This record gives sequence, C-alpha cells and structure tokens, in this order.
Amino acid sequence: MARDGATDADVAAAPLRRVSLEVPTRAPSGATNAYVVGDCLVDPAARNPELDRLAESGRIDHIAVTHTHADHVGAVADYAAIADATVWAPEAFADRVADAAGVTPDATFADGDAIGEDGPIALETPGHAVDHVAFAVPDRRHGEIGDADGTGEAGEAILCGDLAVAEGSVVVGPGGGGLTAYLESLRRLRDRTPTALHPGHGPAIEGPESVTATLDRLIDHRLDREAAVLEAVEAGASDVDAVVEAAYEKDLTGVADLARATVRAHLGKLLAEGRIDEEWRDRIDGD
Ligand SMILES: [Zn+2]
Repeated sequence: MARDGATDADVAAAPLRRVSLEVPTRAPSGATNAYVVGDCLVDPAARNPELDRLAESGRIDHIAVTHTHADHVGAVADYAAIADATVWAPEAFADRVADAAGVTPDATFADGDAIGEDGPIALETPGHAVDHVAFAVPDRRHGEIGDADGTGEAGEAILCGDLAVAEGSVVVGPGGGGLTAYLESLRRLRDRTPTALHPGHGPAIEGPESVTATLDRLIDHRLDREAAVLEAVEAGASDVDAVVEAAYEKDLTGVADLARATVRAHLGKLLAEGRIDEEWRDRIDGD
C-alpha cells in the first residue's frame, strides 16, 4: 500500500495516524509527531486543527505520552479537557506526568499493559528520559503475510518516542537512566523484531530490515562514541571538556551542551562498569 498520497479509505483502514506538530524542540526536524491509534492519542505536543477535530468529535478516549520532555506534552491538558479523555501515566511516574502536562493522570500502566481496551501496549524504554516508554501496536502494513485487505497476520509497529530516529541520533544525558538503560532499551526493541518504528521526531522507519538497520546503527553509534570517550581518557584527558574535545571530530557550535551531556553519560556508564578511575565520579558530577 502506498504511504504517500494515501486516500481517505487507506487512512480509515490504517490503524495509525501521524500528525506533525511544530513546537519548540531541539530535534532537527523542528517538529514533534503526535500519533492517533484507534481512540488513543500519543504525544500531543501542541494544539492542531486535525487533532482538535478528532478530540471534538469524540474520537479520542485515551491520552498517553512517551516521556515527559516539554516538546511532547504541551497539549495533553487541553485535549484531556476537550475530549474528556483518560490521561495515562507510567505507575512509577504519575507525578512527573502531572508536573509536565499540568493535569493529574486518571490511570496508570505498568510495563506490558494496554492503554485502554485493546489499545497500544506500553513498553518501558528508559534512557533518553527516565520515564520513557514506547507503545506497540499492530502493523497491518508490514505483516508477515499482511496486505491491504487486512487478512494477513499483522506485524508490530512501535511508537518509539525519542528512543530512535531515522537519521542522526538522540540525546542521552547522564540522567534518565543513562546510556546503560538506553542501550538496553534499543536492544529490547530490536529483540521484538518490529516491522516499523514511528519516532517522536522525523519520518517513520518502515519494514523489518530498515528497523533492524536503524536500531543496529544507533547501538553501534553509542558503542563507537563510548570507545572514543574511553580512548580520550586513556590518552590523558582529565576533565569532561577535554574528553568532549577529543571524542568529537565535528563542529559542536550550538550543540556543545548536548555533547557535554552525552560525554558525561558515557563517562557515567564507564565509571559504573569500573572501566575508568573512581576519581572521575567528582569530575562528572561536579559539572
Ligand atoms: Zn525527549
């Protein structure tokens, strides 16, 4: 089925709708993707006419976010009010969702729970943020023998929030569970062999080969960076700035703070694994 130029019938048959929202975000796309799956709205970062129509027409019963960063939660409270929808939060992070979204969650979920009846399945995927979750939904576009008439066995698409992107990489700072958690989350997704990824920023990653290649690329990217960080430390870099200097070859204008956060996350992981000296603890924390 063609994705571009989809007809209304295609859209009706597809269980997943993406709505791009222009919000202040540091993601290169300058926009955040909200998704509507059945009666569930994920990551309403901002108001938008299409989402307004869906909310006003009673098509939205549930609202959830992949994580509580400001560029994912901006219109949760508005749409909860307009649609009289149930706002969901991970059970361990209901307070964070309340603080970020400005509305008290009505319901909580644990890993593996569905959002509403037969809704998206929540998958804990910390790393980019400590409260990050992904949502698994049936993928009728890329089923094993799935096809446009819907008779094939559906694959699994994952709304992956800021865990993965089609191009480049995502920020993994020293908070949020850090790089160890991030890598585990990427591997967790890869082990599920999804047939599509729908990120919080940028285009979808379609088809099982593209999904695996993307997740492998993101894992390799982290391990390469980790090797560069370790090499810098072993070569004598003695503070975070020196490691940043040595571990990045590209011009960091405008993203130096993100690079520093990333390096601190890498150093934290290496420290936790006993691969760099204990004296790095203060250097990382004292920043
Ligand atoms: Zn984020």
